[in-house]
Amino acid sequence: MGFESLLGNERLKDNLRRSLQRGRVSHFYLISGPQGSGKRTLANLLAAAMMCTESEKPCGGCEGCRKVLSGVHPDFITVDDPEKKTVPVDLIRQARADIYVQPNEGQRKIYLFPRGQDMGIPGQNALLKILEEPPSYGVFLLITDNPERLLPTVRSRCTELALQPLPEAVLRRELERKFPKAEPDTLAAAISRSGGYFGQAVKLLEGSEGLQQQTVDFAKAFAQRDTMGLVRVLVPMEKWKRDQVIPILQDWLSILEESLACRAGGRAISELARTISASRSSADLMAAIRQLQKCVEYAQGNISPAAICGYLQWALR
Ligand SMILES: [Zn+2]
Repeated sequence: MGFESLLGNERLKDNLRRSLQRGRVSHFYLISGPQGSGKRTLANLLAAAMMCTESEKPCGGCEGCRKVLSGVHPDFITVDDPEKKTVPVDLIRQARADIYVQPNEGQRKIYLFPRGQDMGIPGQNALLKILEEPPSYGVFLLITDNPERLLPTVRSRCTELALQPLPEAVLRRELERKFPKAEPDTLAAAISRSGGYFGQAVKLLEGSEGLQQQTVDFAKAFAQRDTMGLVRVLVPMEKWKRDQVIPILQDWLSILEESLACRAGGRAISELARTISASRSSADLMAAIRQLQKCVEYAQGNISPAAICGYLQWALR
């Protein structure tokens, strides 16, 4: 398993292979691209390549590669606390101290910062201190979906690896492999809405397969102007908790938005959105979208699910 397991991005992969062969590895890499573009895959492959003991790096089979790729290499360290909105400065300071301790096993010690965009100014300033004077074995991999949020001084010290959208043929081939039962129309719609990024297309397709029953029932009732059908969906939800109701309302919103896009000539991924767009006008859809947006806000505020579901029975009737 080498760099080929990252889809597309041929030029970037060739460049990396060449610099690894020559032993020219940078201390700091900034891996950028939107969600679902393969940033994490690239970071793991690059870290494996740096720990790899074979000539074709990463080979995927040697101990270094295997440990990195299975997430157990002691010298491949992730700096983050996903529970916190901003990557805590303390963790960055800790990494700064820890890097001067020699690697345990490998030739290198690699620090992965999965949320470069959420490092905050104090965190980035703490990081800058290491970027100025890294030990020879130290490597930093910063991942970000928004390189603009990094200080220019941080960014300018990094070798930037920007992930690109995939060619349509590659994307289609991979999606057909992963979703062998998907209709050609559904695939085409996912491809056009994914911006060319595999991860995004997968998310769209999985979302349309894994819809909750409430969403399916809501969509059918809305498409058929079936007031009683809406009541049957909404009444049981009155007893739900706020954090159960919000994601469902957001699913409804996205299905209506997809229906609206479909009426404007876009292709819909889900069969439900196609059905709705065939029976409801754009004005109907826009009005319902506004009501749902309002209700999501209410739910995020302090309004009870009972009040919200009651209101929707009236507003969407
Ligand atoms: Zn290897």
